Amino acid sequence: MAEFDVDLFVIGGGSGGVRAGRVAASHGARVMLAEEYRMGGTCVIRGCVPKKLFVLGSHVQQELEDAAGFGWTIPAATFDWPTLVANKDKEIARLEGIYTTNVEKSGAEVVKSRAVLEDAHTVCLANGRTVSAKYILIATGSAPNHGTEIPGIEHVISSNEAFHLPELPKRIVIQGGGYIALEFACIFAGFGSDVTVIYRGDNILRGFDEDVRSHVRSEMEKEGITILTGCTVTKVDKHGKEFTSHLSDGSSLASDQVMFAIGRHPNVANLGLEKAGVAINPKNGGIAVDGWSKTSVENIYAIGDVTHRVNLTPVAIREGHAFADTVFGKRPVQVDHATIPTAVFSQPEVGSVGLTEAEARARFSHVDVYKATFRPIKATMSGRDTRMLMKLLVDGATDRVLGCHIVGDTAAEIVQAVAIAVKMNATKADFDATVALHPTAAEELVTMRTPTSRHIREAAAE
Ligand SMILES: Cc1cc2nc3c(=O)[nH]c(=O)nc-3n(C[C@H](O)[C@H](O)[C@H](O)COP(=O)(O)OP(=O)(O)OC[C@H]3O[C@@H](n4cnc5c(N)ncnc54)[C@H](O)[C@@H]3O)c2cc1C
Repeated sequence: MAEFDVDLFVIGGGSGGVRAGRVAASHGARVMLAEEYRMGGTCVIRGCVPKKLFVLGSHVQQELEDAAGFGWTIPAATFDWPTLVANKDKEIARLEGIYTTNVEKSGAEVVKSRAVLEDAHTVCLANGRTVSAKYILIATGSAPNHGTEIPGIEHVISSNEAFHLPELPKRIVIQGGGYIALEFACIFAGFGSDVTVIYRGDNILRGFDEDVRSHVRSEMEKEGITILTGCTVTKVDKHGKEFTSHLSDGSSLASDQVMFAIGRHPNVANLGLEKAGVAINPKNGGIAVDGWSKTSVENIYAIGDVTHRVNLTPVAIREGHAFADTVFGKRPVQVDHATIPTAVFSQPEVGSVGLTEAEARARFSHVDVYKATFRPIKATMSGRDTRMLMKLLVDGATDRVLGCHIVGDTAAEIVQAVAIAVKMNATKADFDATVALHPTAAEELVTMRTPTSRHIREAAAE
C-alpha cells in the first residue's frame, strides 16, 4: 500500500496550481487538486481574461469616433452593458470548463472544495475528509485589499464585483493608481461613464518609468478622466442609489459606484499554515519561499500570488511548471524573475520591459536615454489628440539595452517581442542593425539614432 493517498496535493486551481498539477501528473505523479471557487482562478474568472474582454469592448467607442476621419458615417451607436456581461460570462464559463477538462485529462483528480493544511502531510477538505500527500503545493493566489477600515467601506466594490455590475454606472469613483485601477477607469470611461480616479501618491503607476507615468496620465486626462492625486477616500455615504465619497482634502464626490483597487493581499488566512509549520515572509506577508519555491517545510511548496513575488499570470505558470519539473520530472529548474515584461491595458496601453530610467541611472554609471513622442499615423486622419511614447535605456559602457517602455496602441504586443531581445542582452547596435518595418509605430525603436539625454557619473554601483 502506498505511504500517502497522493504524491501531490495542490491547493488552488488557478494559473499556477493548474499548470503544476498537470505537469506533475504528466511526470507520473498521483495528483489531487482542490479549488474552492471556480477552476481557472483569478486570471480566468475575475482577472486578466474578463478584463481584456472589457478593454476590447470599451475600445470600440474610440474606433467609432475615429471612423469619421476615414470617411465613415456611422449612425449613433448604442451600448448594452448586460449583453457585454452575459457574453463575457459565457466565454469565462467555456474557459473554466476547458481548465477542468485539461487537468482531468492529465490524470489529476479535481475536487471542488476548500482545502486547508492539517499538518505537513495532511490536507483537510470542507466535508471533513482528510487526504495525505507526499508533497503539498500551496497556490491559493491573492484577493483585493480594501486598506484601512473607513466608514462606509461596505458600499465599496472591488474588481471582483466590477465584472458583475447589473448596470453600467453613469459616474464612478475609483481609488487606486496601479494597473487594475487605471484599466477599470479606462474601461468605464470607454463605455461612457464619468470617471474620477483618486490616488494618494503624487502620480499614478508607481514603479513604472517616470515618462510613462506622466504620459499615461495626460493621455487619460485628454480622454476626459479626472485624476486627483495626493488624496484618499476617507468615508463613503449611501443615499438611495447614490454614493458620496468624502476625500481627505475636504471635498466630496457623488457617484453611482465607488471602487477600490489599492492592492491585493496573498491568500494565507485560515489555511492551517501554523499547524504545518509554514512560515510567512515578514517583508511582504506572502508565504516565504526559496528559489525553488520551497517553503520553510521540506515537502511543502508555494507558487504564484500567494508568495507575493511578481503577481502576474505567466509568472505563476512558470513557477508551477518549474516546481513540477524539479520535484517530479528530475529536471531541477529555478524561475528567473529578472526582466519580466509587463503591460497596463489602459487607453492608451503601456508595455514595459527591463529597467526604468531611475533604476538604470542608479545602477549604471553611464546611461543613454532614447526617447520619442509622436502622433500615430491613425491620429493624423482621425484627428484624435493623442501621442505615442517610446523610450529605450542603454548602458553607455556596453551598449546593452537595459529597458524599453512604450505607451500607445499595441504597446503590449510590441513589448512582448522586444522583451526577447532585451532578455538576450541585445545592444543598441543590434537594434540599429535591424531594418525598420514601415509603416509601423514600432519602427521608431530601430530608428532612434541620437540619445535625447546622456547621464554619466563618476562612482558607479555596477
Ligand atoms: C483585475 C485583475 C486583472 C489582472 N490582469 C492581469 C494581466 O493582465 N496580466 C497578468 O499577467 N496578470 C494579471 N492579473 C494577475 C493574475 O490574475 C494573477 O497573478 C494570477 O491569477 C495568479 O495566479 P495564482 O495561480 O497564483 O492564483 P489564482 O489565479 O488567484 O488562483 C488561486 C485559486 O486558489 C483558490 N483557493 C484559494 N484558497 C483556497 C483553498 N483554501 N482551497 C481551495 N482553493 C483555494 C482560489 O479560489 C483561486 O481559484 C490580474 C489580476 C486581477 C485581479
